[in-house]
Amino acid sequence: MRLANGQPYLAIPGPSVTPDRVQRAMHRTSPNIYEGALIDTVVGLWPDLKRLAGTSQHLAGYIGNGHAGWEAANANLFSRGEKAVVLSSGRFGEGWAGHARDMGIEVELVDFGTAAPADPDRLEQILRADTEGRIKAVLTTHVDTASSVRNDIPALRAAIDAVGHPALFAVDCVASMGCDRFEMDAWGVDVAVSASQKGLMTPPGLAFVWFSDRARARCGRGDLATPYWRWGPRAEPAEAHEYWGGTAPTHHIFGLREAMDMILHEEGLENVWARHEALAGAVWAAFDAWGEGCAIGLNVGRPDWRSRAVTAARIGGADGTRLRQWCEREAGVTLGLGLGMNSPEDPRADGFLRVAHMGHVNAHMTLGALAVMEAGLKALGIPHGEGALSAAAAHLASVAG
Ligand SMILES: *Cc1c(COP(=O)(O)O)cnc(C)c1O
Repeated sequence: MRLANGQPYLAIPGPSVTPDRVQRAMHRTSPNIYEGALIDTVVGLWPDLKRLAGTSQHLAGYIGNGHAGWEAANANLFSRGEKAVVLSSGRFGEGWAGHARDMGIEVELVDFGTAAPADPDRLEQILRADTEGRIKAVLTTHVDTASSVRNDIPALRAAIDAVGHPALFAVDCVASMGCDRFEMDAWGVDVAVSASQKGLMTPPGLAFVWFSDRARARCGRGDLATPYWRWGPRAEPAEAHEYWGGTAPTHHIFGLREAMDMILHEEGLENVWARHEALAGAVWAAFDAWGEGCAIGLNVGRPDWRSRAVTAARIGGADGTRLRQWCEREAGVTLGLGLGMNSPEDPRADGFLRVAHMGHVNAHMTLGALAVMEAGLKALGIPHGEGALSAAAAHLASVAG
């Protein structure tokens, strides 16, 4: 018997669940792109998107996904042959580095593995050794969605400041924006990148690059800043079409407006962050219980190293894939696959999976996903500790009002 009919739940780390309200806001005929509601909505979105990132500085928007955001940041930060240091804690850090390399940027990739954040002391050493000042910018992920490692952005900033190195500091916030606390200006971030389809609860199609006055003064005019990617006109448009380098992403704009109302003006950003923190804690509590005396375990050991948006976990053997398939086919919950966890013993990372708790997710959704996983563990005979659901519920009870 299958129990999958009903509302499916896509619990993968992007795209996240799109709220019905966002979908309804997008369901309309194409608007006039030269004047009226569409332009007014874009103009109104810019201050809200800056507030979301914790900045009063500059914002450029692009039609594209997170990879487009990477390319936009790279194109404006660097000229060909200039040097980037990329601090990687998983597949997405490597991905950003690879994009930069392919664009002709010299990349020093510093790999911290798939279960630990970037070490600020290591960054400090690297910058101290750069006596010729060749490093133009330091790039890292806030949350690496593959490993679910969260970097300590203020600590990395402090390492740059300790050396007094002029390198700019750029952070990939695709997975974390609107989920994990992020404060661009207070944390001294020069460039932040995000996209619409994760914490921002809107379908894939919009990428954003926030940048500081310092970055504006030093970047954006090099030989990689080709007309489409150049951030200047998008951030300071003389004409409305310059916001998007051409026709606006009409329907996405109305969807994002609704999503930003929900995040900033209804729930409130502090509450949004607290909700993600609570749901992440419930997921961790469940895994701690399942892991008693067996192979199951969270990928990231220390809670302060973990994302609040997504959790990567080891199930063991090929059981990550088996459990994912069971949850989707039998119970209507789609979990994320193990990404970047491949090893010679597990070439397809079948022993891993990821649970997303990003965006439009509440207690019943996360508890439901965990309960389905528990049913799957039992149905498939995968060894696991008992008490996971009660631990998850107890965690939510302890933090809820
Ligand atoms: C999802 C994600 C990306 C890539 O975004 P796409 O929309 O898939 O191109 C980049 N970085 C991080 C941290 C992500 O989570």
